[in-house]
Amino acid sequence: MPLFDLTKSKKQVRGIRRRTLKMILEAGRSSMPNEFGAILRAEGDVIDQLWLIPGTESGESAALFRLHMLPVDFSIVGTVHSHPSGGCWPSGADVELFRRFGYVHLIVCEPFGPDNWACYDGNGEERPLEVVG
Ligand code: ZN
Repeated sequence: MPLFDLTKSKKQVRGIRRRTLKMILEAGRSSMPNEFGAILRAEGDVIDQLWLIPGTESGESAALFRLHMLPVDFSIVGTVHSHPSGGCWPSGADVELFRRFGYVHLIVCEPFGPDNWACYDGNGEERPLEVVG
């Protein structure tokens, strides 16, 4: 029996902590005009931690995540990155990244207000994500 059941945990992530989302939006705003990127980690069924990847460079999001640097950690559920200009829709490169890694992906976009974010699954389809207080 595997130690971690990824299929099970996939169904379990239902939300994100309000303060974590706020932190993401603030990071997106303060990184302007550059892109901000991080890994999302969940405690139970709620995303509550951001993990900045060392050596992350600004630029195309698919290049932001140096996946080979990641340790095996099953609390990692996906990624977040910002779009300094344009909307919260994933680019072709974004969808390729989503398919390779994780199953909950956030994009935050200008002007980084409380509603300027969207959540996608591993296929780049928009999915609901509850904001938990
Ligand atoms: Zn993107």
